[in-house]
Amino acid sequence: MTRFVLVSDTTLSYEYRNFPLLDFLPSAPSRAIPPAIYKFLKGPPPEVKPNGELLRAPYSVRKLQASLLRKFDRKDIAVAHDDYLANFIDDKTEVIGISTMDPLGVGPTTMSYYALRGGNMMAWVRKDWDSLLEKVNRARRGKKAKLIVGGPGAWEFTILRDEIEKYNFDYIFQGETDDIAPALFEQVATDSIDSTMFYRGYMSYDDNFRKVIKKDDKFLARGMSLTPYPKLDQIPLISEPSVKGMVEVMRGCGIGCDFCEVTLRPLRYYEPEEVVKEVTINARSGQINGWLHSDEIFAYKHGNMYEPNEEALTDLFSSVMAVDGIERANPTHGRISIPAGYPEMLGRLSKILKAGPRNWIGVQTGVETGSDSLAKKHMPNKTLPLKIGPDGSWADIVWQGVYNETKYYWRPAFTIQVGQAGETEEDYWDTIGMINRLSYSYSENRPFEFTITPLVNVPLGRIKSRSLNKSMLTKSQLAVYYASYRHLAKMAVRDGYGNTEGNFFARAGTGSIISFGGLMMLKYIERLARKAGVDLDKVKNYSVPRGKEIHSLNQAIRA
Ligand code: SF4
Repeated sequence: MTRFVLVSDTTLSYEYRNFPLLDFLPSAPSRAIPPAIYKFLKGPPPEVKPNGELLRAPYSVRKLQASLLRKFDRKDIAVAHDDYLANFIDDKTEVIGISTMDPLGVGPTTMSYYALRGGNMMAWVRKDWDSLLEKVNRARRGKKAKLIVGGPGAWEFTILRDEIEKYNFDYIFQGETDDIAPALFEQVATDSIDSTMFYRGYMSYDDNFRKVIKKDDKFLARGMSLTPYPKLDQIPLISEPSVKGMVEVMRGCGIGCDFCEVTLRPLRYYEPEEVVKEVTINARSGQINGWLHSDEIFAYKHGNMYEPNEEALTDLFSSVMAVDGIERANPTHGRISIPAGYPEMLGRLSKILKAGPRNWIGVQTGVETGSDSLAKKHMPNKTLPLKIGPDGSWADIVWQGVYNETKYYWRPAFTIQVGQAGETEEDYWDTIGMINRLSYSYSENRPFEFTITPLVNVPLGRIKSRSLNKSMLTKSQLAVYYASYRHLAKMAVRDGYGNTEGNFFARAGTGSIISFGGLMMLKYIERLARKAGVDLDKVKNYSVPRGKEIHSLNQAIRA
């Protein structure tokens, strides 16, 4: 008998052929990518144990499982593959818990694709979510099992509240559950919610992005008798392998960018010994990569003014690389000012991580803008311990960071935002200039390695309307998109084949689709931009006339 069945948003269980950035594929509109190509690029389905459980589950589900294991037996809990739900859900099942990231397809990356195409919002991530929920509700029909949904995507139901009924949820949980999952599941099973422990309502944002708390019986959050977040020693370690070898090394950030919710969470660092325990579980399952999750790796045990703590980072990375079976590791997120200001440290960390031409260290970085005034307004501490002014402009800091990253084989995946509060024409052109300078720059005679994905800030009112018109992006925003996709197409052609994995056919297929897809996407945006009146030649030559090569910061500054 299985009392608790844990299920994940299926888009989080695939490996996307381990191609950099392909994890974002489900964010693409379903009209734009034919089903056969989508299926091919997702890669093989997740492996299943003989009983129908996932062999490797998304990290969030493994954490939930670990929390439940503090009180219940392993046999009471199943981490189910969505095709085998009937193996676990029966009349005795008490609760089905689903963890999700972007259920309704309105997350930032998903929205930035909709903004280009307009029309109804139906990304692959939403299609996959709908088919998962159909399977779950079919399996629980006529049974008593309660359905609770949580995870980073829970906020989407606060914006699109009327979507809840059709999925037949009993509850939606918002927040961290590591210390309270057993109590939560027991109370949900019997509908006996302790109101001191769980608040019945949610936190959301109004149309001006101000925080609001709303009472709502469908939603649960941490209540008055609990601390707002679990302490580190209340967060259990995973006991079974996670997808892509992901493990967490810290929570919170504290840098204070005004658009970021993560900054509100307290900083909590795992000790290297704890990280090693989780990495070892993954390595024993055959995983050779340690994917070290944080929202800002260079803040790990940081020093004064957010100076990087080289000793702590060295200890962390060396401990992970010393795990039997681990061949490589990379952090999920890190800010650019540290590679810019600490090249020698970056070089030493690269040695530990065995970085090289066949092992680029991928890291996601929010660059957000090329404008000094916007950077100072929205993310004044992101450059710490460097400062805009004495240490150059924001774009200079970014340039120096990518120079050092390319030199030491780190490949940042940048995001930039268009439509930030107070953004002017000049700011947009600063961003275009920064992208062009980076795109034509070289480090040690190698072209800069980076990708850049534009995201658009969509007002919540537009999300609520569920349909976007095609003219959503302004002329200048389309110009930023065009500059970004010119670089992305260049990267797709350059790296499309080199970064693929698998047999000859898988590599040839993935490489061809990526290279061709990059060029098609560029042509599409070029058409949109031309139609909107964007001066394409101005974008192409802005700051870097005729694609002149740049080999030093001085050249970049003069460009
Ligand atoms: S540095 Fe990144 S994680 Fe930290 S507050 Fe800024 S955007 Fe958020």
